[in-house]
Amino acid sequence: MANSPKEVCSFCGRKRNEVNILLKGLYGMICDECAKQAYLVVNDAINTTTSEIPNYKSVPKPQEIKAFLDQYVIGQDYAKICLSVAVYNHYKRLSQSQDDNSVEIDKSNIIMVGATGTGKTLLARSIAKMLQVPFTIVDATVFTEAGYVGEDVESILSRLLQEANYDVSQAQRGIVFIDEIDKITRKQDNPSLTKDVGGEGVQQSLLKLLEGSIVNVPPKGGRKHPEQDFVKVDTRQILFICGGAFDGIERNIAQRLNTHVIGFDSVTKKSRVDKNNLMQYIQPQDLKSYGLIPEMIGRLPVLCALDPLDREALRKILFEPKNSIVKQYTKLLEMDGIKLSFDDSALELIVDKALECKLGARGLRSIMESIMTNAMFTLPSSAKRTFVVTEKYAREHLKSVIL
Ligand code: ADP
Repeated sequence: MANSPKEVCSFCGRKRNEVNILLKGLYGMICDECAKQAYLVVNDAINTTTSEIPNYKSVPKPQEIKAFLDQYVIGQDYAKICLSVAVYNHYKRLSQSQDDNSVEIDKSNIIMVGATGTGKTLLARSIAKMLQVPFTIVDATVFTEAGYVGEDVESILSRLLQEANYDVSQAQRGIVFIDEIDKITRKQDNPSLTKDVGGEGVQQSLLKLLEGSIVNVPPKGGRKHPEQDFVKVDTRQILFICGGAFDGIERNIAQRLNTHVIGFDSVTKKSRVDKNNLMQYIQPQDLKSYGLIPEMIGRLPVLCALDPLDREALRKILFEPKNSIVKQYTKLLEMDGIKLSFDDSALELIVDKALECKLGARGLRSIMESIMTNAMFTLPSSAKRTFVVTEKYAREHLKSVIL
């Protein structure tokens, strides 16, 4: 085709002989280079506005989520059910189309209360394995009120942004697990002259994230860098799950139950209370008397208590979870061609010691480590093909452990 003076790219002005391809439209022309640029710009815009909104129909149903958790966590059925429902509803809320104004689905943040080593963090980590949204775990103890040494609560969102590869729209649909939430309770014995910068002050700052607001987030997180630009993150759709041991909260629960059971049927009611597991009767007002501010409690409407781990549960934890401690040691020795087994009485001893040290399942690993270290040291160089941990062997190697 002859080079007519009108045959130029309407975007960059280059002539036909200066480009590879020149496409003709109704009102002008576009060269191959400009078409490529246009494609990149449009693609970018589409990705940032509608990037992969997970459809709740394609995510597992609550019972399937619980079945997944069952592979990793022993017991704690009520907490598993609360989590499964909350996560499923979270997906539903995200899938609700913007123009569906009939009913606005509110989010239901969760608070999990349970003694140390009962599986709060494990539940959060396990659920993270199956999520299709960004997920982060943060520790409430590092936060202080804005302006004081420590991290500002906004750094939670910086981490979520990192998890989402700095895609703001993805981060805005994420899930955050805040561990050790009991460590930021109001300090009852706080002397009036010093400010409670790590307690109530942090709760106040957290409130604005839980409530749902637009927060200025330093993308690189951490301390205050006045020179870095802020990213605006809307927290309305972010699901918050909090966890804490709330040591000693049983006293508050017992007190409440006692005052409530005064009356003519007090005897029958009292006899129904299981004194060994008072945590199961926890109510929002107990969190308040422990030092969480009412506004915060109001923003965590799902309250679930984790059960203390009894002998039976601890025994199962040794064996049953997908990557249980026993399975891990068996695998390690199997790689040296050695078959590992435990006598029942040895297992009983391990469980006894774990119950004694009152660290929940957390104690199991350190007890197991001290029993197995010597075997792990000597067996690979020996000719043995089997190794049985007897009660005698376990007892001998436990002597050195100070529990
Ligand atoms: P916490 O309740 O203090 O957050 P974790 O979830 O961190 O306790 O538990 C510590 C360890 O104990 C976990 O890594 C896990 O191996 C074990 N564990 C605790 N609870 C359970 C449970 N219910 N089922 C299986 N393992 C558990």
